[in-house]
Amino acid sequence: MQKKVLGYELLKDWGFGKSHPFIIAGPCGVESEEQIHAVAKSLNNSVVHLFRAGIWKPRTRPDSFQGIGTVGLQWLKDAGNENNLPVAVEVAGSKHVEEALKTGIDVLWIGARTTVNPFLVQEIADSLRNVDIPVFVKNPVSPDLELWIGALERLDRAGLHRIGALHRGFSTYDSSPYRNIPNWQIPIELKRRFPGLPLLSDPSHICGNRKLIPSVSQTALDLDFDGLMIEVHHDPDNALSDKEQQLNPELFMEILSGLVIRKPSAEDVIFLNLLEELRDRIDRIDEKILMMIADRMKVAREIGMYKKENNMTILQVERWNEILRTRLRSGLRKDLTREFVTKMYELIHEESILHQTNVMNTGNMYETKSSKDS
Ligand code: PEP
Ligand code: MN
Repeated sequence: MQKKVLGYELLKDWGFGKSHPFIIAGPCGVESEEQIHAVAKSLNNSVVHLFRAGIWKPRTRPDSFQGIGTVGLQWLKDAGNENNLPVAVEVAGSKHVEEALKTGIDVLWIGARTTVNPFLVQEIADSLRNVDIPVFVKNPVSPDLELWIGALERLDRAGLHRIGALHRGFSTYDSSPYRNIPNWQIPIELKRRFPGLPLLSDPSHICGNRKLIPSVSQTALDLDFDGLMIEVHHDPDNALSDKEQQLNPELFMEILSGLVIRKPSAEDVIFLNLLEELRDRIDRIDEKILMMIADRMKVAREIGMYKKENNMTILQVERWNEILRTRLRSGLRKDLTREFVTKMYELIHEESILHQTNVMNTGNMYETKSSKDS
């Protein structure tokens, strides 16, 4: 998968490039012939590259609107044709693929609830063998990068070479301002591993409401995402699904024109020198951080040795509580976020336990291997 420039050529044909992010827009779902024509007409402008609408909607509860079904495919295609917009729909199985191809739909996407299921993804991939159609793959609902990559690989192995990834955030039980938390680290890691893979973000499904869409869209562009998928409805308050997050065409245009498009590189020599200097500082600080953590582990191993000699358990919950409490207090005073300090200390503590366990088991003070190293 890595060697190909997935989907890139096609997206370039449609105006994909760093000066202008690739924009997919359209309603959550097709609701009626009139509705889909009204939205398409409002998006007939140079900003939108691809018109989206769901035909089969994967809803959490059975009483919600489940999508208009196959009858809507032709309405969507016609609405696109009349407004010079290629069209995209979500497919969740081979039956959907068959119907979409029959209608001449231009692009498919696999939804988050389907990406979690390798059987369904494989079924879709098999039904697309020898079909040259672009396919976007949304991240799975769970924060599982390998599952996302697995779905992309299944399509790649079926011979599809115009593939892109769509980041739509991840389900969480924790209270959060987002409907699906972005977990930016996951798409960033995907980008690091597959630099040629087009990566778009779907702020609508991340945010779940209109207010947060501008800032999430800007973050995606600042992280060098290639484009955005945004839900637009001509009358969001009366939409049959996802009404809180759909934008009316005016607000959509206003948000898009407010986005700052930055470049991944710069030419100003003074700025570049300054950047290099600052990055040098970061490199030196990182080296110090690693040396200090290594030192901390050395001390932890020494403690491990004493615990072994005194037959004492590795974990003392009170001590761990005290570390968390005091480090959190200190970190907050230093303008670090609660989440960061907590996560960092959980990782440090886990590593200390690994080192101490090794000392306990082997009596060896100097070598610690993780299960992945061995
Ligand atoms: C959608 O794009 O309308 C959709 C159902 O999204 P997701 O698969 O991200 O939930
Ligand atoms: Mn939706």
